[in-house]
Amino acid sequence: MSAPTAEVVICGAGIAGIAAAYHLAVRRGVGDVVLVDELPPLSLTSDKSAECYRNWWPGPGDAMVAAMNRSIDLLEGLALESGNVFRMNRRGYLFATADPGRVPQLVRAAEDAAALGAGPVRRHDRADSDYRPSPADGFEAQPIGSDVITNRALIRRHFGWLADDTVALVHARRCGWFSGQQLGMYLLERARAKGVRLLEGRVEGVETTGGRVSAVKVSGAGGSRTLSTPCLVVAAGPRLKSVGRVVDVELPVFCERHAKVAFDDTLGAMPREAPLTIWTDPVRLPWSGDERAELAGSEHRGLLGELPAGVHGRPDGGGDSRSVLLVWTYDVEPVEPTFPVRFDPAYPEVVIRGMARMVPAMTAYVSRLPRAFVDGGYYTKTRENRFLAGPLPLDGAYVIGALSGYGLMASNAAADLLAAHVTGTSLPHYAPAFMLSRYEDPIYRARLDSWTDSGQL
Ligand SMILES: Cc1cc2nc3c(=O)[nH]c(=O)nc-3n(C[C@H](O)[C@H](O)[C@H](O)COP(=O)(O)OP(=O)(O)OC[C@H]3O[C@@H](n4cnc5c(N)ncnc54)[C@H](O)[C@@H]3O)c2cc1C
Repeated sequence: MSAPTAEVVICGAGIAGIAAAYHLAVRRGVGDVVLVDELPPLSLTSDKSAECYRNWWPGPGDAMVAAMNRSIDLLEGLALESGNVFRMNRRGYLFATADPGRVPQLVRAAEDAAALGAGPVRRHDRADSDYRPSPADGFEAQPIGSDVITNRALIRRHFGWLADDTVALVHARRCGWFSGQQLGMYLLERARAKGVRLLEGRVEGVETTGGRVSAVKVSGAGGSRTLSTPCLVVAAGPRLKSVGRVVDVELPVFCERHAKVAFDDTLGAMPREAPLTIWTDPVRLPWSGDERAELAGSEHRGLLGELPAGVHGRPDGGGDSRSVLLVWTYDVEPVEPTFPVRFDPAYPEVVIRGMARMVPAMTAYVSRLPRAFVDGGYYTKTRENRFLAGPLPLDGAYVIGALSGYGLMASNAAADLLAAHVTGTSLPHYAPAFMLSRYEDPIYRARLDSWTDSGQL
């Protein structure tokens, strides 16, 4: 009996591996793709996401904006052909500040994003300006770019639920959210219909012949097996570094633990049709005297000082849902990924207190904390927070990963890029920005030291 074979073996059935299988099999006609994972599809990180997307990214250069625009083009195409099974909306990202000193910064961010290809800036500094909010559902026929709103009466008229002292908003428009699980399952179904097979097991090693990949070793419940293949794609999410070693590559990635909080907003503090809303000012939480004294002597004493900007949230779910989803990355360190992931029990309270600075009606939840669900996983990142999609030094080995906190939104562009590398077809202009070989360029490496804005929220 001949040994089992595959044209491409993909290690990892998260959104990166599934999107890669879809782009190889469905869009590029590659037959006999095998997706290997010891866990059910999408279950390690890809079902922990806040499921948002944006074409709003910083430079240097237009690579991130161009890749995200490509990803959103692909997502919109998938939404249209599927009857929007993954419920993609275009509510936008709403950046808010109460600091008049920060307004020029927000305006500059909008202008920079426009220069990079995110779309034009519209200024609204009069109460009768023609600012149009986003519809709650759907994504078609909506403006791109951003609306900068600096008239306080206009802010109150459209966003009266924000803090009274909010002085400026930037509403970035080619942004919103969708169901990541539905997107992933749709891509997987389409891929399976084109012959992609799922194999339960763990990739443990590779064999090489003449200096290139010739087989992949997989261990599973039924023992070990070897799949003959000329091509391995590493899509191992938070295990990228360890699986990289299987092909003798030390990938320049690390992990951060990130969590989100969901609870029922029974008081209706945040309107159901709200965009994803982000407070761009640092926050000092208003603790009582007793709370201050208790915190001062505890491991949480850092919560007494100024906490970073970026607390954000959005309504979650359609129909009768009252759920809101909040995120605040006030405390991240590189960590070794371990599972199950553990989170600070104080996280929900801290996030709700932070969110109450932006949405004052949430203050009512501070004295009587709602039943909150905390969930999350790891952002797997490169130092400058740009993903990897392309060849590895070993012939026949490729990587798609380091998708950080944006893997749901970027996976289609990353997988499209990966598939172009694997099939040897023409590459988009932004391809070099996401290849591992970028780190061989001394000019690029020198730029990393002064790389200020990674685009992480
Ligand atoms: C709290 C939080 C909020 C987020 N919010 C957003 C958001 O709003 N928008 C967005 O776009 N993204 C968001 N993300 C990021 C997004 O979830 C990730 O970027 C994405 O899920 C990464 O996908 P992946 O396929 O690379 O990794 P994973 O989903 O982790 O998949 C990797 C797979 O590889 C498998 N694997 C590993 N090693 C092996 C091996 N040796 N053999 C076989 N299989 C192996 C694992 O079992 C796993 O199934 C968020 C993430 C978190 C944690």
